[in-house]
Amino acid sequence: MLTPGMAGAAAQEQSGDIALFEAIRQADLKVASIGWRLASANAPLCDQIEAGFGFQLHTLDQFDPAQRAAARAHFGFETRVAIEAVIAGSPAERAQLKPDDSLVQVGTVMIADVAGRPDSTERMVAAQMAIAALSPNEPVQVVALRAGQTIRVTLQPVPVCKSRFEMRIARDWGASADGSMVQISSRLIEEYTEDQIAGVMAHELAHNVLRHRVRLEARGASFGMLSGFGANVKYFRQTELQADLLSVYLLGNAGYPLHASTDFWRRFGPSKAGGILRSRSHPAWRDRVATLEAEIAKAETISARPMIPAILAERDRPLDGNWQALLIRHR
Ligand SMILES: [Zn+2]
Repeated sequence: MLTPGMAGAAAQEQSGDIALFEAIRQADLKVASIGWRLASANAPLCDQIEAGFGFQLHTLDQFDPAQRAAARAHFGFETRVAIEAVIAGSPAERAQLKPDDSLVQVGTVMIADVAGRPDSTERMVAAQMAIAALSPNEPVQVVALRAGQTIRVTLQPVPVCKSRFEMRIARDWGASADGSMVQISSRLIEEYTEDQIAGVMAHELAHNVLRHRVRLEARGASFGMLSGFGANVKYFRQTELQADLLSVYLLGNAGYPLHASTDFWRRFGPSKAGGILRSRSHPAWRDRVATLEAEIAKAETISARPMIPAILAERDRPLDGNWQALLIRHR
């Protein structure tokens, strides 16, 4: 039996879990919404396209075992994969899908049949990829469970640049792209404005659009700690500058301010990207801002949308390591 004190503590713990779950949902939605805006507006620039639905998925398996009962009580999870959030203005919203709808079937993808290790996000990621691989040009039937009731809707996906967008819960300032995914730390989401976050995410998406991962691999580049040493440096710096240049156009096409990433750097750079934190694989932040500003001035003269910049053609060329040709130094 619970004493009144214990009941109070349990209730407090429960409301703490709920507040945390909802905070994560809001942050995930923010990342998904910015990613959606960038990936849908820039579809004409991408040679790898997928079907965009505009729902953010999650799974009970991603929760710490100690939190699972609370997560199930809060979110429902009537199947393995549920809708965490619905992006405003997306096909999912138009089809009236709702947060906490549990997915049964999306087109030919049967959620119960998707394979992957339990206690990991594998099944959710596999489901997400199978759904994204559906044709973006055909209507798709979605079957879901909502509070025990079966819901059936037909949804017309839209073409979007092929990339997942994910928030990583962490106290560092990291953002990365691996060719198929853009990942950004929760701390950046908490502390920067939406436009500044879009600046960071546009840079990461640009790495994927320009196929930097495979082009670096083709040069035998070493990732991680070694990226700042030896012959790797020139290739990494070239990809960083190419991503900066393309990011200006990705932002503009998505209706974000062209200076969103220079705003980010002016706030982030002075305290976090200098001194001992200076990255050897990346050009100095003040030089990146000068380079971005010159490109923004060019983009400001273009009124057509979408803007399709010449830098896009780089994705079909091997990296030559000539990063100096792209860099404009800060004076
Ligand atoms: Zn980068």
